[in-house]
Amino acid sequence: MPRKDGSLIYSADQKPEIIKEDGTNMNIELKTVKALGIRPHNRPAASSPESKTDDEKLKLQQDNDPFTHPEPELTVIGNLLDKYRIILNKFPNSDDHFMLVTKDFAKQDSLLKPVELQIMHAILKNINNSDECKKNNTQFFAFFNSGPESGYSQFHKHIQFLKLPRGFSPYQSGLASTTEFFLPRELNVNKHPLIYQNAKFKHWILKIKDSFEDEEERETILAMLYMFLISRVLNVSKSQKITRDKVSYNFMMMDDWMMAVPRSHAKYEDVWQNALGYMGLFSARDEDVRQKMLDLGFSKILEGCGFPVEEKEKEISYDGLWY
Ligand code: AMP
Repeated sequence: MPRKDGSLIYSADQKPEIIKEDGTNMNIELKTVKALGIRPHNRPAASSPESKTDDEKLKLQQDNDPFTHPEPELTVIGNLLDKYRIILNKFPNSDDHFMLVTKDFAKQDSLLKPVELQIMHAILKNINNSDECKKNNTQFFAFFNSGPESGYSQFHKHIQFLKLPRGFSPYQSGLASTTEFFLPRELNVNKHPLIYQNAKFKHWILKIKDSFEDEEERETILAMLYMFLISRVLNVSKSQKITRDKVSYNFMMMDDWMMAVPRSHAKYEDVWQNALGYMGLFSARDEDVRQKMLDLGFSKILEGCGFPVEEKEKEISYDGLWY
């Protein structure tokens, strides 16, 4: 909720539209969030003059970092496992938008650690099984934008949690609900990650095990699934001659699936995109951008910001579904 003292700024100035996109059959939410226009951008490459060295850019970025000393009014948990905090997003996309941030500066371009995956999943499981979520027919998901073309605005490591619109079913959940968990192995030719056949952008979805024997098993399995997805992202980046420091992807998680989308561009025709678009959630900062999204088409924007999917990737998977 917006706060009078200005510590939290939110205004969805019109009723969100829910659209079923022709062709992809994807559920899309389209809304205008004016606060997007005033969100600060604090990335080494974007906010520093070209004349500065990489070290100077990083220093400048760290001086402007909002997460090292987050605003007390926005801090929900100041110390989680000694290394993390939970804070509210100052310019949220919806009325429940919070973040897991590292206490000390860490780069957003670093890989997620097993413990970070474990915390993400534990938070989702807890919230999504709460009476509040069940009563409101809603679910939370988590996302991580990493790499210069991923659409991030802050360089201090942060994982975000956002509530889906009431009753909104993302395409990934539909796919995951029809398959069993398996541990992917590159040499296992019969079991492949899931692919939404209508999507035009490269992506991979893996089912998460329903329940874990203990926290150690949760951490290990989530890390294996994540590394499998990362190896796919790296392969695409390598084939496109993208250097290691430019590798960009969006990572999303819900209770029962995780997904990675390799990214080629942060924006398509001036329409900025991060993980949210790949969930089907489109927020425009003003009416012009909103109209541009409608004119270009959601599918085209997602394809332009990612890598086009190749037909040969659309083979029948182990259980008869497209993967
Ligand atoms: P991203 O754009 O994916 O890097 O996410 C960074 C998020 O940090 C954005 O959603 C911003 O709204 C949010 N943000 C920016 N400044 C602050 C701040 N001072 N406190 C809390 N959240 C912030």
